[in-house]
Amino acid sequence: MPIDLKSLSYDELQETMKDLGEKAFRGKQLYEWMHVHLARSYEDMTNIPKSLKEKLMQQAEYTSLTVEDCQISAIDGTRKYLFALADGNMVESVLMHYKHGNSVCISSQVGCKMGCRFCASTLDGWLRNLTPGEMLDQIYAIQHDTGERVSNVVVMGTGEPMDNFDNIVKFIHMLSDEHGLNISQRNITVSTCGLVPRILQLADLNLSITLALSLHASNQEKRAALMPIANAFEIHEVLDACRTYFDKTGRRVSFEYSLVAGVNDSEEDARELSELIGDMNCHVNLIPVNPIKERDYVSSTHDAVLRFKNRLEKNGINVTIRREMGRDIDGACGQLRRKHLERKD
Ligand code: SAH
Repeated sequence: MPIDLKSLSYDELQETMKDLGEKAFRGKQLYEWMHVHLARSYEDMTNIPKSLKEKLMQQAEYTSLTVEDCQISAIDGTRKYLFALADGNMVESVLMHYKHGNSVCISSQVGCKMGCRFCASTLDGWLRNLTPGEMLDQIYAIQHDTGERVSNVVVMGTGEPMDNFDNIVKFIHMLSDEHGLNISQRNITVSTCGLVPRILQLADLNLSITLALSLHASNQEKRAALMPIANAFEIHEVLDACRTYFDKTGRRVSFEYSLVAGVNDSEEDARELSELIGDMNCHVNLIPVNPIKERDYVSSTHDAVLRFKNRLEKNGINVTIRREMGRDIDGACGQLRRKHLERKD
């Protein structure tokens, strides 16, 4: 296997240069080209000698994503990118403009094996994990394309980040490294469907990222009907892992709750949810489900969403309704990639 240059940490890259018979500072220069100047190829790297570039071309791999498609919302300027990876696989990322800065939502895997019933990303199954470099490059390519600085990153695109644990952790370290984009860990959110052992492992790493848990239901039975992972890890077990996460990191956990009409959006559901998480230092993000054509789930009405929110608030729970960004483009996870796959068939 050739060396995957963009996935090497600052220290690893300097070690690699020494292994190749070069000075360690070449590693620092290369790191800066890749992770600060966001160079797309060796050609951009003006202070790297030709002999080293040739050596790298033989022994290492330096790949960059290419923009395959980009849809721009006429409503709010949200951009949905379809990127081609070096092996031809496709992943999606989204750029959203908020008052507090630009936020990018990245994918962590090609496809997904978690099988959540309402999600488009899992319909074609899982193909492979993304490397740390490929995750970083989604942000780099967007920053390069728009010329605007990205300040927040959410790992909420296609894939289950906790199912790609080592790469996600390395990605977080590299993204927040002062020698790279230097994005504060407080501005990074990782969303999981609830792989308990991985949540506990993450809690021990002492990162200051936000953990988001995809909860989507107020009891075990309803959750299992929407999310197969609930059969492996029971709802109380997952919530206990979130409590541990808060205890160890001091970071308030976010719960994602996609509202599906007639399934999980009644006031009784809201009451049950309040009881379930009422003791926790947490925040609930309500998202009217984004219907996908392969399933007949219907989004809750605006009234139902408001009633649900009010009920939680009355019970003292922090709650926001996720602003729907880019409603006029293929907003739901995995829809753009699927459209592309369908076109190819
Ligand atoms: N696998 C991770 C991260 C990717 S999904 C996780 O499960 O959290 C990001 C979020 O979008 C999750 O909360 C997921 O449940 C939600 N989601 C997926 N498809 C959706 C849809 N069609 N409508 C609303 N939310 C959806």
